Amino acid sequence: MTKILVIEDEPPLREEILDILESEGFDVMGAEDGVQGLDLAQTTPPDLILCDIMLPNADGYAVLSSLRQNPDTALIPFIFLTAKAARESVRQGMDLGADDYLTKPFRTDELLNAITSRLTKQVAIVQIHQKVAQLQHSNLLKDEFLETASQELRRPATNIIMALKLLRQASNPEQTQRYIDSLQQECSREINLIDDLLDLYYLGANERPLQPEKLNLQTWIPAIIEPFKTQSRKRQQTLWSNIPPYLPMPIIDAADFKRILSELLNNACKYTAPGGKIVLEARCDLTTSEATNPDGKTIMFIVSNEAEIPNEFIPNLFQPFYRAPEIDRWQQGGNGLGLTLVEKLAQRLSGKVQISSKAGWTQFTLQLPIETNLPVALAPTILNEINS
Ligand code: CA
Repeated sequence: MTKILVIEDEPPLREEILDILESEGFDVMGAEDGVQGLDLAQTTPPDLILCDIMLPNADGYAVLSSLRQNPDTALIPFIFLTAKAARESVRQGMDLGADDYLTKPFRTDELLNAITSRLTKQVAIVQIHQKVAQLQHSNLLKDEFLETASQELRRPATNIIMALKLLRQASNPEQTQRYIDSLQQECSREINLIDDLLDLYYLGANERPLQPEKLNLQTWIPAIIEPFKTQSRKRQQTLWSNIPPYLPMPIIDAADFKRILSELLNNACKYTAPGGKIVLEARCDLTTSEATNPDGKTIMFIVSNEAEIPNEFIPNLFQPFYRAPEIDRWQQGGNGLGLTLVEKLAQRLSGKVQISSKAGWTQFTLQLPIETNLPVALAPTILNEINS
């Protein structure tokens, strides 16, 4: 309920205002002097204050000045009640930051109009303040991001300088080759990081409009998987896929979709032990009703790999530059932006990505909305090993 504080030292007038406001459904508080009014305003901040100027103990100006200095009460709408002739006092009150004034005697409708008008404006003011607070927060996050990004960009550059120095001092062809390899690796790392940073920037700026197209998953997914066959074979991992033949053809932005699956598969290859398994499955659940799944019909792509991530690291995995301390056991050196991109891309496709890790497996599930009238397969769970 909207709470109004009335500070007025003439008891009949104070009681009359309180009665009117109460009958209009406001929650009311009355104070008979400035000190009492200020005290009430600070202990139980009201939504609006009506305050006489000439008051015993502390006058209306003193009350207003004190309220405006305290961040908790600074924004409370404040209406002065003033005697008819006192033009100078009105000006002084408005200069101090009063929102409006009412000249005594005033009619009930004047009183109520002034209150309604102030309360309406207050809603807009509060919204603006919230918006400013949000912008300040996001600005702070941007500053932090910029600082971390600069440090991350410095890392490969420092290694490049070191490798160049060693290369100059190399005394045999093996050493020379080793430093050249190292140079190449650090240059790739730097370029990869710059590319990911630019992608994040373009995503944030919404530079590229979505271009949804109907995708035949039977041909599309194998094409995405192709480069990972070699990558996984190099580390003696096995890569499996299960794309049921009767899945619907979802209408998705192909570039974003490819990027998500590639990032997830790349992570899976990097963080699975040699000899471990990686599985990509697509699923579409026919049995899900609107009641149990308020998101509507969705298609799911699940990338599972044989590696477990301790639960305490999971909430941070989508944070930029976050690398869980234990998952890069094989020194694959991710830049910590892959999953940030995956999450943002999934949101751009109106979907979501979730992660779970238990019993030796980690599972990323990408869930995307699909049109409900499309035919959907009852998925057989047959896995095809594709890189052997
Ligand atoms: Ca008075």
